[in-house]
Amino acid sequence: MDRDVQDLGFDPDELRERYRRERDRRLRDNGADQYLELTGDFARFAEHDPYVEPGFTRDPISDDLDIAIIGGGFSGLLAAARLTEHGVTSFRIVEAGGDFGGTWYWNRYPGAQCDTESYCYLPLLEELGYMPKEKYSFAAEIFEHSQRIGTSYDLYDRTHFRTRVRSIDWDEELGRWHIRTDRDDDLRARFVIMALGTATRAKLPGIPGIEGFGGHAFHTSRWDYAYTGGDTNGAMTGLADKRVAIIGTGATAIQCVPRVAADAGHLYVFQRTPSTVDWRRNKPTDPQWWASLQPGWQRERRENFGAQAAGQAVEIDLIEDGWTDIFRTVSAPKGPDRPRTKEERNRVVELADFRKMEQLRGRVADTVADTDTAEALKPWYRVMCKRPTFNDEFLTAFNRDNVTLVDVSGTKGVERITERGVVANGVEYEVDCIIYASGFEISAEFRRRLGIEINGRDGQSLFDHWSDGLKTLHGFTTRGFPNWFYIGMSQNAFSVNMTSMFDDQARHIAYIVAESMRRGARTVEPSQAAVDDWIATINGFKVGGLGFLEACTPGYYNNEGAPQAGSAFFGAYTPGTNAFNELLEAWRATDELPGLELA
Ligand code: NDP
Repeated sequence: MDRDVQDLGFDPDELRERYRRERDRRLRDNGADQYLELTGDFARFAEHDPYVEPGFTRDPISDDLDIAIIGGGFSGLLAAARLTEHGVTSFRIVEAGGDFGGTWYWNRYPGAQCDTESYCYLPLLEELGYMPKEKYSFAAEIFEHSQRIGTSYDLYDRTHFRTRVRSIDWDEELGRWHIRTDRDDDLRARFVIMALGTATRAKLPGIPGIEGFGGHAFHTSRWDYAYTGGDTNGAMTGLADKRVAIIGTGATAIQCVPRVAADAGHLYVFQRTPSTVDWRRNKPTDPQWWASLQPGWQRERRENFGAQAAGQAVEIDLIEDGWTDIFRTVSAPKGPDRPRTKEERNRVVELADFRKMEQLRGRVADTVADTDTAEALKPWYRVMCKRPTFNDEFLTAFNRDNVTLVDVSGTKGVERITERGVVANGVEYEVDCIIYASGFEISAEFRRRLGIEINGRDGQSLFDHWSDGLKTLHGFTTRGFPNWFYIGMSQNAFSVNMTSMFDDQARHIAYIVAESMRRGARTVEPSQAAVDDWIATINGFKVGGLGFLEACTPGYYNNEGAPQAGSAFFGAYTPGTNAFNELLEAWRATDELPGLELA
């Protein structure tokens, strides 16, 4: 055996080849189009709100506003909070759900939890003096925290709940946006802040026959507790005599599978690609440690996370969890031992990646008793090809007699759905209930991702304007769409600590809106030159990531195997959130709103 291979305990060439084979087995001709958009007959999967009494009606509202914030999840709440800090309170929030929370309003599936540690993730902890119960918060606590923000910043009376925005259109004569909703409202706002989050629109797998299933079916983001019984903590007594199918094994399924396994008569988990499942190791918050934190601690912690995510050396890892373990270990050494060439760097990082994945595959083998099941649960791709997950109960669920893993990788997905159940590998699995853990329109083209028509000056559609690529200044504004701001993943720095990234964006947008109002501007929008410059900056970062994404197994991270045509993170400000924030701070410090035209 090759000496290197012996030392490493694996053969890099073999692994690279195995990863390629596993990717090719899953690549589909129809890429991102394999998913069903939840419109028409499928709209019921998304538009049904299981958490409110049905039958709510109200009269249409006609109103003139300074600012409309679309979305009452954390990004909308943060926009409202940061505007309030600027003394601007003449806004209204429009929210589809019956309460605040966004992602955490809709996603109450059993076991739902945030994978980013609560001290970094939950916004405004210092402002509100709230101590999270545990290092990783469960859904109920996160939902309550969004309600806490709503109450503390006095937002409930300024929000139209249970109202879904359908379109927004710029009216040049009025100098306002018309916001039209499913309640026939016409809200005329000078400024619009889109705060839709990233997992706003659920999607279904385009499995033949899906419409003909005769049993019960729902998407994880609309968990039907009326059918299953119990709540987000489990105790789903309604499933005791049921045969349940869960389709999908992404971050959502990893969390809900163990809970359904504990309660269902029988659970079939249909898996196309295994997730990586690292340790969770949750623990209660230590009140003494909490009391010792000094003002500014949350920003410091978020910046520590951000620095590690960007591959920078930090003196101390404040977070010490599965994410920072990946950031630290799957990277090149810093300091005097650092690689001197790009090739050397790539080689070192790839080896570190192989080592991490070997460790994760080893965890599967050590935990899952049945060897065939363990083999099928092993992931064969590089760590960040798919969203990493962290859970201490998922793998052991497969040691239960009432749980069956059905590997559908050979047919690139579930074959068919019939009136009675799910067909895979030629076998029909009869089930009473199908739960789709099939994800969201995260990296779909923008029209599909947003599901709201947006027409700017001269009636131009935003989606036509962006059909050949995003055109923004800093990801927030675009020319021809005056007074329109977007919080999200769009030509700016990305962080898996989403709320931290949304907060930084909200601060910046709140500053621009407040300044534009203070300066008496009717409109604010970026100049063409500023947009062109920013596109050039972003395009400069693109080159490096493409090869990595192309070699990855398909998923929404790489636009289902076609990253050239766009992907969730392709076109981001790759130096990271800290560098991006410094850039924005310097921009604000000029006090001249450079690149923006105020009229
Ligand atoms: P994902 O998009 O990650 O997963 C969808 C799953 O459905 C995949 O396993 C996919 O397989 C599978 N699938 C799709 N089509 C078929 C088919 N035809 N047959 C069989 N299987 C199919 O959705 P999730 O809801 O799990 O997660 C979405 C995102 O939400 C996460 O990536 C994360 O960003 C976020 N999230 C965050 C959490 C947190 O802790 N903060 C918790 C949960 C979710 P394949 O992989 O092969 O495509």
